[in-house]
Amino acid sequence: MKKSPIKRISPEQRKELRLRAKLKKELLEEQIEEKGYTWCVACGQTKSVAEIQLGHIIKVQVGGTSRENCKLWCQGCHIKISGH
Ligand SMILES: [Zn+2]
Repeated sequence: MKKSPIKRISPEQRKELRLRAKLKKELLEEQIEEKGYTWCVACGQTKSVAEIQLGHIIKVQVGGTSRENCKLWCQGCHIKISGH
């Protein structure tokens, strides 16, 4: 019986995850360069890198992962704004 504990993801999903990680890193680096710390762009509170999430303004299936459609939000704002 073959059973893999690793969840299989498609090449498209893998590409999407890589894109998100890259975009998040870029946006965080820009914030650090600008002010020396990272923050949630919705509530304006200073947040650690670990607390920041990359959120989609328009859901990813429609809006895609791009600079225009993605913002750095804390978990609270992410839930409030996107509902997930
Ligand atoms: Zn926030």
